Order: sequence, then structure tokens, then C-alpha cells
Amino acid sequence: MHVLVLGAGVIGVTCAWFLRSAGHQVTVVERQSGAARETSFANGGQISVSHAEPWANPAAPAKVLRWLGQEDAPLLFRPRLSAEQWSWGIAFLRECLPARTAANTRALVALALHSRSVLKQLRAEIGLKYEHVERGILHFYTDPADLEVARKSAALMRTLGCERYSISTPEALALEPALASWGDRIVGADYCAEDESGDAHQYTLQLAEHCSRRGVQFLFDTVVRRVLIEDGRCRGVEAVPGDPSELPSAVLRADAVIACLGVQSRRLLAPLGIRLHITPAKGYSATFDVVDAGRAPTVSLTDDEHKIVFSRFGGRLRVAGTVEIGGDGLELNAARCDALTRRAQQLFPGSCDFAQPRYWAGLRPLTPSNVPYVGASRVKALYLNTGHGTLGWTMAAGNGQLIADLVSGRPTAVALPAVVA
Ligand SMILES: Cc1cc2nc3c(=O)[nH]c(=O)nc-3n(C[C@H](O)[C@H](O)[C@H](O)COP(=O)(O)OP(=O)(O)OC[C@H]3O[C@@H](n4cnc5c(N)ncnc54)[C@H](O)[C@@H]3O)c2cc1C
Repeated sequence: MHVLVLGAGVIGVTCAWFLRSAGHQVTVVERQSGAARETSFANGGQISVSHAEPWANPAAPAKVLRWLGQEDAPLLFRPRLSAEQWSWGIAFLRECLPARTAANTRALVALALHSRSVLKQLRAEIGLKYEHVERGILHFYTDPADLEVARKSAALMRTLGCERYSISTPEALALEPALASWGDRIVGADYCAEDESGDAHQYTLQLAEHCSRRGVQFLFDTVVRRVLIEDGRCRGVEAVPGDPSELPSAVLRADAVIACLGVQSRRLLAPLGIRLHITPAKGYSATFDVVDAGRAPTVSLTDDEHKIVFSRFGGRLRVAGTVEIGGDGLELNAARCDALTRRAQQLFPGSCDFAQPRYWAGLRPLTPSNVPYVGASRVKALYLNTGHGTLGWTMAAGNGQLIADLVSGRPTAVALPAVVA
């Protein structure tokens, strides 16, 4: 089969790899001049099964209301006069019902667990070399009430097969001594040794090279304008090189098409009557050069109080987090950028060159349930692998393999989520 993969982010490239490995002829179509230039460029780096719980949970609506209008809030909802935004918001509220949260948690953990093991296998099999650390994820708390909630979450995670354990502050400091200067404020932590962290951008570039060597064709600087449907079946796409303004488009024919377009998936598929509930959830990261390795963390960390994560990529430290819903601009908000640097400096004084931060903002393709669209769409031969929100890096390997199995008519290792449009 000839398969077109739309989008060369971490999701599209990984999917292309597994489709090629399954014996298909694969072409990847990407509007940027290289892979991983949009949301997969500078994320938090965590392969985080242990925190795969959805944001939509019974406690979320009160938190979102409390943070309204607070510029540096961890989750900021900017209400706009947009039918799309409001319908997404209503769907989010529905997913906050306890039964929905429980079902979504089960689906997310199953996908994430599978994906983490597929990633480990893939790395070993082809010798992928990107900055990564296999020392788990340590989540630390400064508020006893939040720690109590976390203990229950950890217990739930264990029943779902994820080995996340509550640990004491001394145990946390023994795992990550760089936290010592903040030790007297930390009330406890939880830890998942099997989780890991790594540079998703480097991984995607490396895997794209492996794909090319195995015969995957990449059409960069090529914008997909339209998905072609003939006789009720997807037959390919109309695409145009470079600036899509006035140039005539070319038809790229294929036996199957996989949409991996991140936040753009909704817009491209809407004319087909496929209504994806995906909203851009903007997040920020700051990357610093490490100047004193002993003072910078190596275990990937989640700072619960500030809802930010830390991942070490060799000589760099990445800090990432915050969520802004309401708009798709990529401009950098100074208050949010400063908050990342301030916190990194506070926790790890002297570890990095904090005077030279490299700030970045990206748009997470977020569904109300956090569960991605992975599977067949209702248009024959058109598949979805999109809407991974906060967990795209975590789920890329597993979901790529699941789609390749589905397209190839093989049974999938994990049940696909029941959210296919
Ligand atoms: C601050 C931040 C921190 C994060 N931290 C983590 C983390 O620690 N762990 C984790 O698992 N996830 C994390 N994420 C989420 C993760 O980065 C995303 O889920 C993931 O990158 C999404 O990948 P994608 O391939 O779907 O989207 P993208 O990387 O955006 O790829 C989509 C591609 O489609 C292309 N495209 C779009 N429209 C067209 C078109 N019409 N024609 C051709 N090409 C097109 C785009 O150019 C783009 O390259 C974080 C995200 C952010 C913003």
C-alpha cells in the first residue's frame, strides 16, 4: 500500500517509521522545511505514564475558575467569543464527571504504558541516539493536601499497571540531591522508576533519518490544502509547495492517509464533516546551558506547586509547563517566561546560565478528555493519529505502532480509544 502521513511532528514521523516497517510505501507531507519544527520542537521531554491522568477531573472546574484572569496561573482559560472554544469547554466539563474521568484514565494509562515499552524496544532495535535519561520521574509536592490527593492517584495508577509509588522527602532527596536547597519545603513526593525523559526534537530528527534510509519519502515545504474523497473513500490529498497562496496544487494519490497534523488537524478535516474536538493549549519552555552539573537535576522532575517539569538533556536543562487555552498565537508572554526562569533559579541556584534562557512556546493539540484520536475515521482509508495534548511524546511510539497495525489489517496490541470521529 502507498500511505501518506500528513505532518512530520513526533507523531507523524514515528507513525511513518512503523508503517514502513510493516512493509508499506510511505510519503510524509510537511509544511515546514524539516521535521519537528512545531509543537514537537522544545517540549518538557517527559515520557510520563505516571501522570497520564486527564486534566478533566471532578476538581478541575473549580481550579479553572479560581485561576481565571491570573496571568501566571498554571492553567489559564481565556474566554473568547468563539463557538468552537465554548463547545470544547462544554465537552471538557462533561469529561470532568467521575465516571468519564475514570474511563479516560484507564484509556490513557493503557496507551501510555504500551507506548513506553514500544519506545524502549525501538531505541534498542535501531540504536537511536538522542539525549535521554532513564532515571524515572520524580514528582514533588509542597502542599500536604496535594500530597494526599497524589497518594490516592499513585494507588490508582498501580491498579492500572503503572508502578508509581509515594515516597518520603529524604527518599526524594536521595534520588535527586540537586533538590537539597528546597528540601525543607518539600512535604513528600512520588516516583515512577520506569518513566524516562528525552529530547523529542532530537529523537524525531534521528528517526526521520532512519525513515529516509529505509525509503520513506519526505515532502517538506509542502502544505496540504485538502483531503481528496472519491466514491466515499479517501484517495489522497491536494498539496502545494511552499506558500499556499496562489500556486496551483498537486494531487498526491495514496491508498491510505494518516492525519498527524497536531492542532491543524481539526481545520483540515472539518470540510469532510469530521468534527475533531481539538483546541490549542499553549505552553512554554525555557532551555538553559548547565554550568555546574552537580547542581542541576538529572532525574526528570515535576514541580507540583508550579505545575512545571524539568528534564536534563546532557549539558542543557529544559523547564516547561503552563497552559493557556484561548487563541493560537505563539507570541511569548514575558510574565510566563520569567516565571520559568525564576523557579529554575530558585530550585537549582548556580546550576545553569540563567542569564541566557532560550524561550519557546508551542500549541498542544488538546482534546477535552485528553484521550487522543487514534484509529480509523468514518471516511474509508482516512486514519487519525492526533490530539495528543500533554502526552504526545509519551504516546508517539505506541500510537505509531497501533496505527501501522490497523492499516495493515493486524490486531492492535491495545484497544483503540472509543473517540474516533
Ligand atoms: C510546553 C510543552 C511541554 C510539553 N511537554 C511534554 C512532555 O513532557 N511529555 C509529553 O509526552 N508531551 C509533552 N508535550 C506535548 C507534545 O509536545 C505534543 O503532544 C506533541 O509534540 C504533538 O505532536 P504532533 O506531531 O501531533 O504535533 P506537531 O509536532 O505540531 O506536528 C504536526 C505537524 O503537522 C504540520 N502541519 C500542520 N498543518 C499542515 C498542513 N496543512 N500541511 C502540511 N503540514 C502541516 C506542522 O507543520 C507540524 O510539523 C508538551 C507540549 C508543550 C507545548
